[in-house]
Amino acid sequence: MKNTKHIDIVGAGIAGLTTALAVTQRGHTVRIFEQSPALEEIGAGLQLSPNATRILQSLGLTDELADVWYEPDHLQLVSGLSLKTLARLPVGITARDRWKAPYAVIHRAKLQDVLLNACRRHGSIAFEFGKQIDKPAQDAADATVGADGVWSSLRRIVPGSAEPRFSGYAAWRATLPIAELPPSFSRTDVTALLGPGAHLVIYRIGPDTMNLVATIPEHASEKGWNFRGDASRLLSAFSRWRQSIGPVLAKAEWRHWPIYEVGDASWRSDDNTILIGDAAHAMAPHAAQGAAMAIEDAFELASWLDRTDMETRTALLGFEAQRRPRIQRVRQRGWLNKFAYQAIGPFRLGRDIVFTLRGGEKLLTDLDWLYGYEAGSSGK
Ligand SMILES: Cc1cc2nc3c(=O)[nH]c(=O)nc-3n(C[C@H](O)[C@H](O)[C@H](O)COP(=O)(O)OP(=O)(O)OC[C@H]3O[C@@H](n4cnc5c(N)ncnc54)[C@H](O)[C@@H]3O)c2cc1C
Repeated sequence: MKNTKHIDIVGAGIAGLTTALAVTQRGHTVRIFEQSPALEEIGAGLQLSPNATRILQSLGLTDELADVWYEPDHLQLVSGLSLKTLARLPVGITARDRWKAPYAVIHRAKLQDVLLNACRRHGSIAFEFGKQIDKPAQDAADATVGADGVWSSLRRIVPGSAEPRFSGYAAWRATLPIAELPPSFSRTDVTALLGPGAHLVIYRIGPDTMNLVATIPEHASEKGWNFRGDASRLLSAFSRWRQSIGPVLAKAEWRHWPIYEVGDASWRSDDNTILIGDAAHAMAPHAAQGAAMAIEDAFELASWLDRTDMETRTALLGFEAQRRPRIQRVRQRGWLNKFAYQAIGPFRLGRDIVFTLRGGEKLLTDLDWLYGYEAGSSGK
């Protein structure tokens, strides 16, 4: 017989809202606590690879997302010094054929809106906005999900959890009207310009808007997502790059955030609190998997919580054991990307040769384990 569970979720970000939808889809009830009085429109672009879009589609969000996301034709790897294309990985139709789900890019606020609206349509999801939570509620739920981001408060009550560490990098982001991007830059691809010492990713996130994210070494270590910064620091990181890039960067109005990571440590406490998403394993955006891992966590967790053949505690142990190796592999992929994308000296030359010789089609096969992953099996 089905046993309806009640789940408390702390944080209405991508991880928290996706968990709410996945858990209620399986017939359980949810209460979400969010510290902000209303969800903020802060943020810019997110990449959603097929391992994540497959889940969003199975939550019934296909039509709404199709109106607000873009499916790029290719992932392009370009030398920042010469502007020569090193490799073009086809996504677009190829992603749908190969991984049975789209590769998409979207504004974070649009994704959050679609998730929030879907939650609001659902009778079994209650919201409490403006409520900052630092421990599970007294009227205990079957489980409390800490989806409260990299600066998680719930993490403090999880024995053996890790504190966030500054990565030594900052992500600078800006949006630019499409008309202001020189014609030599693609409007329909995700373009990663690879440097020595920095990299810059450009893709479309609105009918007339391109999203730019530059990752550069940084000393500052403030907490937050939305700092105005002295863009001359950013421009100097790109000063050796092809001259046509400088004017593009100079046109944009930049915000930056120092990148923090949460290393491999415990996510669970004996009172059935479980951390997911950035609260559990915030990672630098070099593999563009932060949101995707939050979405996978949410779907996988719902599948474990739905198990009728085990207690909640055992289900949470199962979830942690299943997710940990995958998160570790994705994290390592991010480190490898960072090394390659920002390589200097002979490593940069080696990188350019390897990408050129391997070519886009072969590079796709290196991504099958990542993009072809189907979450939600709960070990059954
Ligand atoms: C404002 C903002 C802007 C961002 N912009 C970008 C971007 O442009 N590009 C990008 O790649 N990534 C961005 N991110 C990060 C990205 O959303 C995450 O890396 C990824 O989606 C994982 O999400 P998450 O749900 O685990 O955490 P988050 O997206 O950080 O969500 C955590 C949520 O928990 C809430 N919260 C925190 N503490 C408490 C508490 N004690 N009680 C109740 N609620 C709490 C927060 O207000 C937030 O809504 C942004 C995150 C935030 C919060």
